[in-house]
Amino acid sequence: MKLPIYMDNHSTTRVDPRVVDAMLPYFTVHFGNAASRNHSFGWDADKGVEAAREKVAKIIAADSREIIFTSGATESNNLALKGVVEMYAEKGNHIITQVTEHRSVLDTAKRLEKAGINVTFLPVDKDGVVNPDDVIKAITDKTILISIMLVNNEIGVIQPVTEIGEIAKDRGILFHCDATQAVGKVRVDVDMMGIDLLSFTAHKFYGPKGIGALYMRKKNPRVRLSPMIDGGGHERGVRSGTLNVPGIVGFGKACEIAEDEMADESERLVKLRERLRLGIMNSLEEVYLNGHPSRRMPGNLNLSFAYVEGESMLMGLKEIALSSGSACTSATLEPSYVLSALGVSAELAHSSIRFGLGRFNTEEEVDYVIKRVIETVNRLRDMSPLYEMAKEGINLKDVSWKKD
Ligand SMILES: *Cc1c(COP(=O)(O)O)cnc(C)c1O
Repeated sequence: MKLPIYMDNHSTTRVDPRVVDAMLPYFTVHFGNAASRNHSFGWDADKGVEAAREKVAKIIAADSREIIFTSGATESNNLALKGVVEMYAEKGNHIITQVTEHRSVLDTAKRLEKAGINVTFLPVDKDGVVNPDDVIKAITDKTILISIMLVNNEIGVIQPVTEIGEIAKDRGILFHCDATQAVGKVRVDVDMMGIDLLSFTAHKFYGPKGIGALYMRKKNPRVRLSPMIDGGGHERGVRSGTLNVPGIVGFGKACEIAEDEMADESERLVKLRERLRLGIMNSLEEVYLNGHPSRRMPGNLNLSFAYVEGESMLMGLKEIALSSGSACTSATLEPSYVLSALGVSAELAHSSIRFGLGRFNTEEEVDYVIKRVIETVNRLRDMSPLYEMAKEGINLKDVSWKKD
């Protein structure tokens, strides 16, 4: 086993060596511009792109003509929301989303709100799940778009998108889904789930960074979008710019591998995740699971360790790459907005750690992480006066703190 250990696979993943191999010829041999129609360099690049487009479409059960390549899910989310709002302005000015979406959806929605669009941010329950009835209640005759993610990037919770897709379809409202954490890991089927627009990105499932896609339904209904980037009219005029051919080829290869290996990989990751969860929770008291216990993605574990600062834990676990539930904004440490939305207290949010297991993690690494987490939490709690008081049975809520 080699250190450091990478266990932050929700942030990004290592590129699979098979993906790198597929990409390499497209840098130095088939390096043409896929839009060059007059020579074999262009034709070869275009062939690589179109073969990849088939694979990218297949992983979400779509048609290749419904795939628009972008720079990643952030761009896809921006294009979906802004593109719909501009294109369907005459139909209405209301969109519905929810509070634990990725920043690239929330911040886009907030910008649209400033520009005069009405946005409903639905709440989630204590497990992080949106209630489809809340979606129904939020709909007005001005609603043009519902945007709900498939899998949350902090707590791995799977949203009831099939139900929401049905609601949207019944009322003739477009349904966008940020499926970035789901594609390649859990089955995604745009028809079965009633999805009209879907964002995803290669680097979250062992492909390269800087390449993603937006799925755009072609019929029942045919979705139209105002482009956000103007230029040469690439990608059916929806997204101009010379195609990132090696990236697209790598994206296709990552989809092909996931298609073949997803079932076995999910099973293996659930086992590793449960080994990690039980290994930690059976040896430490006052550890809490964040997010729904069963409606969650295989590789995700998010735990709060009472009386311990997540940031201090990460300092004590420098040889393991993990994420904490605190976001460093310029000067302060803010508790994660996702955990806050679940009703997790600021203290417990600050004491949370996200474990993101992936393809390249081993059982040996999991056992090492269990051992080091237990050691670190015990050491930090031994130094914590709060933990000592709590163990002596003092209710910390009744203590009046003296300021000096
Ligand atoms: C990572 C992530 C994104 C952003 O993807 P990029 O390709 O890095 O822009 C969007 N949504 C979710 C849920 C993510 O996890």
